[in-house]
Formats: sequence, structure tokens, C-alpha cells
Amino acid sequence: MSVFSEKNFDIRKLTSFKIGGIIKEVYFPENIEEFETLLKKNTGIKVFGNLSNTLISSDGYDDAIILTTRMNQIKIEGANVIADAGVKGPKLAQTVCENGLSGLEFMIGFPGSVGGEVYMNASANSQQISDTLVYAVCYSKEKGIVKYTKDEMDFSYRSSRCQKENLIVLQAEFELTPKPQTEIKERMDKNIQFRQSHQPSLALPNCGSIFKNPESDSAGRLLDSIGAKNMSCGGANVWENHANFIVNTNSGSSLDVLNLMYEMYSKVKDKYKIELQPEIRFLGGKNERENELCQILYKVK
Ligand SMILES: Cc1cc2nc3c(=O)[nH]c(=O)nc-3n(C[C@H](O)[C@H](O)[C@H](O)COP(=O)(O)OP(=O)(O)OC[C@H]3O[C@@H](n4cnc5c(N)ncnc54)[C@H](O)[C@@H]3O)c2cc1C
Repeated sequence: MSVFSEKNFDIRKLTSFKIGGIIKEVYFPENIEEFETLLKKNTGIKVFGNLSNTLISSDGYDDAIILTTRMNQIKIEGANVIADAGVKGPKLAQTVCENGLSGLEFMIGFPGSVGGEVYMNASANSQQISDTLVYAVCYSKEKGIVKYTKDEMDFSYRSSRCQKENLIVLQAEFELTPKPQTEIKERMDKNIQFRQSHQPSLALPNCGSIFKNPESDSAGRLLDSIGAKNMSCGGANVWENHANFIVNTNSGSSLDVLNLMYEMYSKVKDKYKIELQPEIRFLGGKNERENELCQILYKVK
């Protein structure tokens, strides 16, 4: 079985940050069989979805990765929906709305994929992925394909079993609630309106919230209090309306973003003795300064 791939792929155009370099090879599986074959052959290969929560080094990455963007089957069975890992959140939200099913309205407002959203336990507007998940079909190096129920997924704030055990999400099933389409659409419209007034649009390339909220506090509040809204580095600026967003205003590089994150992190640490943890993920490894910054920000050894 030969899976479509591209060598020396310029990833920048696919990332929501519009930052990134050349990736040695990118595989694009189209179904679960192709995905499983790739995972078996390439142990430890990194998998991404819609790249809306990932900063990729402008110096690129010297290995292969898998992107799930072509795995986009959606199946509706009664009040349940089964979606492949690569299905985009807004597309899934629209589809279930058209079928009069409620529970995924939050997905309308941001550009994640089902796999990325399960991995990150994405949430917004008082809904989270773990509310309606029945099971996730995952691939583990040791066990092959395993179906994990919601309770087995070990979900917590922006975390899931996938992060702890390097599980790859192939597909997920959600149990939804039948409701009038107008009611579902109204809730989605409200979510979109909320976003337009509280978050930068993708016309200003960004990656969503940069840092996780520390327990019982808000990263945005802490960052605002240390003057982050006036900070910038090269082409990366903290967004003027919310201190926990970085926008790429002028051909910013991954190093610009990491330097800015380090400045934000350091000022909060100095003032409050709180070490903010990045919510966004990083892929790189070739740039020494970036590696040093990642050791501090991501506590990698
Ligand atoms: C404008 C904007 C607004 C946002 N608002 C929100 C918000 O309100 N709430 C929220 O939770 N997030 C938000 N985000 C962040 C982001 O959209 C979510 O984290 C989303 O879940 C990431 O999905 P993705 O497919 O883009 O992930 P990627 O960036 O592709 O990957 C993120 C992580 O998930 C892993 N991953 C991806 N796919 C798989 C898979 N199939 N199996 C295993 N691991 C996988 C990757 O290895 C990586 O570690 C926002 C982002 C943007 C740009």
C-alpha cells in the first residue's frame, strides 16, 4: 500500500501561525488502514491534524510526520456521530447541526481537528470534547489499535491519556442530544460572536491561547498585569486585546515566538513565582537557541 506523501514539504502555509520550515517528508493517509500501516512502519512518528495548536520551527524538521487532514469521514448513526481524526471541528459542528444533534457547538469557533481536540481535550463556551465522547479509537505502539471509553481517556484540563502514553487518535465517537436545528445554530452563532470580540481572527495568524491557565487563575490576567500587551519580538507581537495571544504580524519566525514566550514566562515568574506552562506544542530540534528556550519553557531534559 503506498500512501500519498510529499518530500521537503514547506509546512508554513498549513499552520495557523503561518510559521514553519521544511519537513523532510509529510504523509497524508486517507483512511484508517493507511494510517495504521504508516504507524506500524514508522514507530514514534509524530502526528498532527490542522496545526492550529503547534508552532513549527522556521528551520524545519529533519524527519517525517503524518498529517491527518485527508482523513475526513463522518458517519451519523442515530444520535451518535463517528468522525475520523482529520475531520475539522467546524465541519463536524455544521454537519451534526444539519442533523439536529447538539453537543459539539463549541467546535464551530476554532480550527482544530477531531484528533487534535481529543489529544488536547479542547473546550470552549462551556463545552468540552470529553462531555460527549463515547470512545476514541487509538493506536499504541505496544497494543496496536485500542478503543478507549471516555472514562479510560483520563481527561483533565488540556490533557488526555494520549499525551501520557503517546497514543495516536484514529477516530472518535460522540453521543449527542437531538434538538431543533434553530436552537443549535443560535448557540453556534453566539459562540462565533463571542470569539470575534475576544480572540484574534486568523487574518492575524495565531495559535490560540499560548499558555495554560494556572490553577484557580488566568494566564491572561497574570500576563496583562506584567504589561505583556506591549511586548513584541521581531515579527511576533502579543495581541493588543488579550495578553495570552501572540500574533504573527510581519513574517515572524519560530524563534521570535519562543523568545517572546520566554519574556512573558520570565516576567510572570519574577513577579508571582508562577511558572506558566505552554498550551501550544512545538516541533523543531535543529536550532540550538530554540532548543535552549524549549528546555526552560517545556521542561524537556
Ligand atoms: C484562533 C484559534 C482559537 C482557538 N481556540 C481554542 C479554544 O477555544 N479552545 C481550545 O481548546 N483550543 C483552541 N485553539 C487551539 C487548537 O485549535 C486546539 O488545541 C485544537 O484541539 C488543536 O487541533 P489541531 O488538529 O489543530 O492540532 P495540531 O496543532 O495539529 O496538534 C496539536 C497536538 O495534538 C497532537 N495531535 C494532533 N492530531 C493527533 C492525532 N490524530 N492523534 C494524536 N495526537 C494528535 C499533535 O501531535 C500535537 O501535540 C484555538 C486555536 C486557534 C488558532
